Amino acid sequence: MKIFVVNCGSSSLKYQFIDTETREVLASGLAERIGPSSTGEFTHKPLGKEPVVKQVTMSEHSVAVSLALEHLANPDFGVVSSLGDIDAIGHRVVHGGVNYSESVLIDEAAIDVIKGNIPLSPLHNPANLMGIEACARILPSLPQVAVFDTAFHQTMPEVAYVYPIPYEYYEKHKLRKYGFHGTSHRYVAMRAIDMLQKAGMPTSRIITCHLGNGSSCAAVLNGKCIDTSMGLTPLEGLAMGTRSGSIDPAIIKFLCETEGLSLAEVDEILNKKSGMYGISKGLSNDFRDLIAAAEGGNALAQLALDIFFYRVRAVIGSYAAALGGVDAIVFTAGVGENSSFAREKILEGTGFLGVELDYAANNSQCGESDVSTPGAKARVLVVPTNEELMIALDTQQVVNNSSK
Ligand code: ADP
Repeated sequence: MKIFVVNCGSSSLKYQFIDTETREVLASGLAERIGPSSTGEFTHKPLGKEPVVKQVTMSEHSVAVSLALEHLANPDFGVVSSLGDIDAIGHRVVHGGVNYSESVLIDEAAIDVIKGNIPLSPLHNPANLMGIEACARILPSLPQVAVFDTAFHQTMPEVAYVYPIPYEYYEKHKLRKYGFHGTSHRYVAMRAIDMLQKAGMPTSRIITCHLGNGSSCAAVLNGKCIDTSMGLTPLEGLAMGTRSGSIDPAIIKFLCETEGLSLAEVDEILNKKSGMYGISKGLSNDFRDLIAAAEGGNALAQLALDIFFYRVRAVIGSYAAALGGVDAIVFTAGVGENSSFAREKILEGTGFLGVELDYAANNSQCGESDVSTPGAKARVLVVPTNEELMIALDTQQVVNNSSK
């Protein structure tokens, strides 16, 4: 099948056009600064042809969808002869709440659920809906599938997802841990299981570490998620590029009272001015900048990195306890895939779990690889994530099942 994969943000739209038989990305693109009052940029990258970049005003998401489709079927820089060659559309949708543990065909009921979960994801779900509505208007006869960031984590047991606050808040508002990056955790766990099986190794207890600007870990038992580090929102858990991760909740009241800040201001600080950026006093939220600054002797950049590494290691330790041991630790996303230094620092002192990093393999790693020593009991794997492919494969499966 040929699937148009769409990831809509509030003012952006990313797409990939994927052939699920060959797993090739036939084209990818990005529309930035969507909105009536700004000049946006539209980039289309067709396989084997020159990329196209245009400055253009895209008043709303449907304009960006139209542009993408026009480019896919364009005689010069297109990759299909007509839009009839597109079989289905897969959408990344952030929040499926407690309603969806799997990807679904988008119909009236699914749209109602995505709308119903807007209070849990006020920035993302409305943007995702705009993409869905734009595609439905332009290609009304094509099936659309929603693939939720939260779905993979729906298998968590109550002990992992219920917060120790009065239970009626869970009953009344569905306040609980949901977790995010689920499509990435699912994809890398699936790849890891495949790699381990081929090597004749145990596959039951896996810890996946998605480490990018936003970061989270998941504990995966026999292919099912049993815990994850992000919570009701992506603010919980690891220290991140600009997010604080888990802190004492009393800090919020303290900051409001002593700094005279409003709740909204503290929320903004914890989401956008904390983490690596906050500890380094605004030096950067980018790990490459921080690693370079730390090498140059910047003590706060070093501290920020050390806190990041320490917190990932502490979560790995707690998930090893939750899983009753660990067969593999999987690294993915910007930092996890690209920084051998980060992997080495995170895993320092984890030999007691059976981890033994092969330093040469870790430093020369490229693509999917096992970077542990041959005899190590717990494998260390690097798996480049591919959420778009996972969305395309899910879309194919849901569409096939629905037409049976
Ligand atoms: P997002 O959460 O925005 O999807 P990514 O997964 O793309 O983020 O990760 C972005 C982060 O990955 C940036 O902080 C960047 O510095 C970091 N990164 C990318 N390449 C490297 C590298 N070679 N070494 C260290 N960090 C890297």
